[in-house]
Amino acid sequence: MLEGDIPLSGLPRFREAIHGFEFEEGAVCRVRLSFTMDSQRRRIVTGELRAPVDLECQRCMNAMRETLVSEFTLGLVTSDEQAQQLPKELEPFLTDDFSADLWSMCEDELLLVLPPFPLHARSECPAREDLEAYEADPEPAKPDTTSDENPFSVLAGLKTKKH
Ligand SMILES: [Zn+2]
Repeated sequence: MLEGDIPLSGLPRFREAIHGFEFEEGAVCRVRLSFTMDSQRRRIVTGELRAPVDLECQRCMNAMRETLVSEFTLGLVTSDEQAQQLPKELEPFLTDDFSADLWSMCEDELLLVLPPFPLHARSECPAREDLEAYEADPEPAKPDTTSDENPFSVLAGLKTKKH
């Protein structure tokens, strides 16, 4: 069992993915990894990640604190051939030198749980009053009623004149 912290600032792809969002100075992803071997002598990694990040609510555009949580089970493989032989419940992770890829592996998993469209819980969103006002608007769009004249009556008139 391996437990530790990875500084979010040390994950360049993740930083890029949350571009425009912030995380606290010194924020870390808490990592817990277990390494086992199954009966087929496959190397298995079971992991749990927790990372606090500030995302931008797509309704009010304010920051929202979110803790990303990822749980995963990966089968370590050194070739595509091995990857294809993995049982379905195992996600393959291709690596030659496993120790060098731990951060990258955690980064991949964090990217997978990053919400594509983050929103505050409705009761907590500062934009909810605007939203409620918009939804409560009882006036349906009405057609223009200033003219009583049916445009087809003009056509009908033309038609009768012809004869
Ligand atoms: Zn919001």
